[in-house]
Amino acid sequence: MTAQAEHTERAATFDVRNPATGAVVGTFPVDDDAAVRAQVERAREAQRWWSELGFAGRRPYLQRWVRYLALHCDEIYELGHTETARPRADVQFELFAGLEDVRWAAVHARKVLRERRVAPGLAMANFDARLSYQPYGVVGVITPWNAPVYLTLSGAGVALAAGNAVVVKPSELSPASAIAVLEAFHTANPDAPPALVSWVTGFGETGSALCGSGVDKLAFTGSVPTGRRVMAACAPTLTPVVLELGGKDATIVAADADLEAAAAAVMWGGLFNGGQACVGVERVYVVQEVRDAFLDAVKKQATGVDVGTGPLSAYGPMTTEAQVEIVRRHVTDALAAGAQALVGGPESIRPPYIDPIVLVDVPEDRPAVREETFGPVVVVNTVPDVDEAVRRANSTEFGLGSSVFSARGGPAIARALRAGGTTVNSVLTFVGMSSMPFGGVGSSGFGRFHGADGLREFAYARSVVRKRFRMGPDMQVFPRTPEQFDTVRKTIRLRYGRTFK
Ligand code: NAD
Repeated sequence: MTAQAEHTERAATFDVRNPATGAVVGTFPVDDDAAVRAQVERAREAQRWWSELGFAGRRPYLQRWVRYLALHCDEIYELGHTETARPRADVQFELFAGLEDVRWAAVHARKVLRERRVAPGLAMANFDARLSYQPYGVVGVITPWNAPVYLTLSGAGVALAAGNAVVVKPSELSPASAIAVLEAFHTANPDAPPALVSWVTGFGETGSALCGSGVDKLAFTGSVPTGRRVMAACAPTLTPVVLELGGKDATIVAADADLEAAAAAVMWGGLFNGGQACVGVERVYVVQEVRDAFLDAVKKQATGVDVGTGPLSAYGPMTTEAQVEIVRRHVTDALAAGAQALVGGPESIRPPYIDPIVLVDVPEDRPAVREETFGPVVVVNTVPDVDEAVRRANSTEFGLGSSVFSARGGPAIARALRAGGTTVNSVLTFVGMSSMPFGGVGSSGFGRFHGADGLREFAYARSVVRKRFRMGPDMQVFPRTPEQFDTVRKTIRLRYGRTFK
């Protein structure tokens, strides 16, 4: 019996609706506390089997999963499109990045996490020291609605590669895509225990139940307020958490930037997925010297953007009415505060769609600059120089992604930015680079997904040291002697009582 079949026996359910048509596209169980706990217990048993396979034994399972999804990609595009009304190309983008994360983790898990010898240091030269990274056990993964394929693959895939079992709680707005990705693991690996890769469904209460269920680590991706609740729910059991939260990513356009390339990248980065991306470009700081030329290029890029549900449309509808209202509030407030609309305006909001909106000269204290908008809205503000651009870019509570356009100064500007990642002369690229860690600082959260740091996020460091021979004076036995005290005193003075390099 698969995890899915066990779920359908329960009573309470909820419907998932296509945001463009309102049609019901699926019905899912609302898992309660007991159901979540039972799922986690089943996962615990499956994890022992998985752990015993070791890195070499686990790798083919992950490879078969990736291969199966690659060969059935059209089904995922179709399902993602049906569930969220996003263009298939958006779903394809997610799948591409997610498969690469799982592939990278499967290939590199051994190298990053395997046992290794560590130098014990001169004072303990009689010891053999070994460091290894052990799987936590069962990892709970809670995901948002905006990238159900990518975040399921990336979160669950990396946790699995590190040797954990996973119980995923997908968003109540897009569970079908997430579950299809997880089911594919079992279709590709019929001999794996069903509870190794499983899921629970429902609303916030189900997510909260997962936090308190006894999982050994909780990986949360979602909004800042929910992140706080997740941390609080994990506190009583001291369950460690990784929080991947929202952002207000800034792009800096320096005077020596390729303005056409910057405008094209900024518009893609701001509008991709309808702006419903944690690392979407929400703010741009352009230096005065190139402001007019840059705004002209942005205007050109924004015209003719195809908003709709076609397979290759630029982006689709907003997923929730609440999100539309946030966009409306930010745009009307900015305009009332003196901002200008370079592209679109309030009339661009025609729910569930929103055409591209570019606002210029928005006062820095307005919500459109300070809060996550999560819609196809880009704010472009002008600054006298790059230093001021950096100061403003760093001035929000967030610190997820960022980008810089400059022919010569990119890396130096990037170093001054307070963000988990920066892309120079492109946008968002570091997110899709599986070898690089991804995560934020400040209100954007903490902990990392993918890259070596991401693998270690789902494992704990374990030190094992072994005494090989006696080397006096031994401070770990009684009785203490005056001679021993004197020898250690001399050692301390000799070793630490002078400057060292
Ligand atoms: P959300 O916080 O409303 O929900 C995320 C998930 O948490 C859902 O599965 C939801 O059911 C669950 N949840 C809700 N209340 C809970 C509780 N009390 N305890 C446990 N789980 C609970 O977020 P959303 O609206 O689905 O997603 C949008 C947000 O996600 C944006 O802020 C976006 O920036 C962020 N996001 C961040 C990243 C990243 O990697 N940093 C990626 C994608 C999205």
